[in-house]
Amino acid sequence: MEVVLQNLTKIFPSRDRKNREDVVAVSDFSFTIPDGELIGLLGPSGCGKSTTLNLISGLQKPTSGRIFFGEDDVTDLPPENRGVGLVFQNYALYPHLTVKQNILFPLQNLKGKDKLSKEEMGKKAYEAAKLVQIDELMDRKPGQLSGGQQQRVAIARALVKIPRVLLLDEPLSNLDARLRLQTREEIRRIQRETKITTIFVTHDQEEAMSISDRIVVMKDGVAHQIGKPQDVYDDPRNLFVAKFLGTPPINVFDGQVRDERLYIGEDAVLDMKGLSEREVYVGIRPEGFLLQENGPMCCKLSRVEVMGRDISVVAENKASLNPAIRAIIGTENNVNMQQGMVRFALVPRKVLLFDKETEERIKF
Ligand code: ADP
Ligand code: MG
Repeated sequence: MEVVLQNLTKIFPSRDRKNREDVVAVSDFSFTIPDGELIGLLGPSGCGKSTTLNLISGLQKPTSGRIFFGEDDVTDLPPENRGVGLVFQNYALYPHLTVKQNILFPLQNLKGKDKLSKEEMGKKAYEAAKLVQIDELMDRKPGQLSGGQQQRVAIARALVKIPRVLLLDEPLSNLDARLRLQTREEIRRIQRETKITTIFVTHDQEEAMSISDRIVVMKDGVAHQIGKPQDVYDDPRNLFVAKFLGTPPINVFDGQVRDERLYIGEDAVLDMKGLSEREVYVGIRPEGFLLQENGPMCCKLSRVEVMGRDISVVAENKASLNPAIRAIIGTENNVNMQQGMVRFALVPRKVLLFDKETEERIKF
């Protein structure tokens, strides 16, 4: 099911007497979600992710804008008539019901021609349970399950009616690190199998990058960039998006372009043919540093962390906006701690420039 968001805006009126400013939770958000894709809605806490999801599900009404599921304008439909499956961070299962009863609960309210027999309901509940691999646990109560298993029950319950759109709001936040990894792969598998258009909300960039066909990076109610995870990582539109994606994060420096060269401090680190003189922010991805004896960029070496797969070089530079610079280099490198200094050459496509005023990307 294709989902179209058209100039979607949600404003919450201020309740605070002293501060009468309204909260613009979602601002003029337009986006067509292609049928069958998994979209990661990503941004810091308070940026409007849950509100966006609630507008799509119908739990909240937009201040303006429209929502379409395929040809259907669902903007004025109540949630129960939209055909959405919802999963939240806290699994919200009925504690006194068994797994099976929890899963088939949404089927019990079906009326008229949609009404199902007890056998049909049981069969559908079993199919949904099998999809999330909890079909062995059907007679347990939620209290007898691990967090990961409870979240699977919640997902099965959202899937049992075969929704047109599946909406997941930080579904992994209550799980420990290992389960989070495992469950996100499960969600990806289930989504691939069912081909249900899915919107997955998270503040965790790695989570969004790893399972999404496309990500939407939000801030202050505004969708800053939409695209394939790798494209957004390689080609961020502004400094916020560049800083939000990637672990370790991008290293940011004060820089200048002069004489067609890029300067960080006194070091001329790259040629910049055709760019006029200006002050810039320079973003360098951790993998953009190459250890090189006569490299143009000189930094004070703080320490070296051996990670097994690669080496983290932690260093300092006066022009850096972060207290420490982090460079990731291959294990074939030999870092000489004695000298106290380290020199790098830079990989041009891993170096990103941003306007000092607008923080928009400057292409070179
Ligand atoms: P996120 O899910 O990204 O953390 P939310 O969508 O929950 O963000 O919230 C976006 C903004 O809208 C926040 O500033 C939040 O305080 C505000 N907000 C959310 N719900 C309400 C509400 N019911 N009334 C007033 N303000 C709200
Ligand atoms: Mg939220």
